[in-house]
Amino acid sequence: MGTLLLLTLLYFLPAIVGHNKRDAVGIFVLNLLLGWTVIGWVIAMGWACSSAPRMPAIVVAGHGCYCPRCGTVSMYGARYCSACGRPV
Ligand SMILES: [Zn+2]
Repeated sequence: MGTLLLLTLLYFLPAIVGHNKRDAVGIFVLNLLLGWTVIGWVIAMGWACSSAPRMPAIVVAGHGCYCPRCGTVSMYGARYCSACGRPV
């Protein structure tokens, strides 16, 4: 049982390493779908290590807010990024 848990953690290591990165969803999907091919796992691990960390949303009073994904400044009070559509 412990071995299965250890193997599962090892399989999802790229997703775990990349969970707070900008491309976390892409890394997870690649890891999940192609991790078993070993080369997919290696690519996911490389991506997880090289991906930029996710930036926190910074609200600038009276000016706008930065998108946590792409860094675009949206209008003050905007709920979604004007560039990528992600909620800000
Ligand atoms: Zn954006």
